[in-house]
Amino acid sequence: MNDCINCGATAEDNSFRFTHYYPCSRRGTVERDAKWYCWQHDPEYIERKKKEREDKWKRKWAREKESWRRKDAERNACKGVPTEILENINVKSLLEQINNE
Ligand SMILES: [Zn+2]
Repeated sequence: MNDCINCGATAEDNSFRFTHYYPCSRRGTVERDAKWYCWQHDPEYIERKKKEREDKWKRKWAREKESWRRKDAERNACKGVPTEILENINVKSLLEQINNE
């Protein structure tokens, strides 16, 4: 009998100039709180997708923040040093030399 129940969630159609809302006509395949939903309108699926998008955005944001932090540190470390010297310097090998002394 459940095979006859439609999803019925409100769906969006953006193919026109305005957004058209209509009841989803897909067959409901998952039951949540005594209501049936298709895979796309399954509240748990929507929640999972939302969380995935948020996590992805958080990771992107963290990477960007880290890259700004890095650039700030490089800028501060090079402050007052003439460009000609910076062009010929390798901080990593300088630090290795200091550590070996
Ligand atoms: Zn649906």
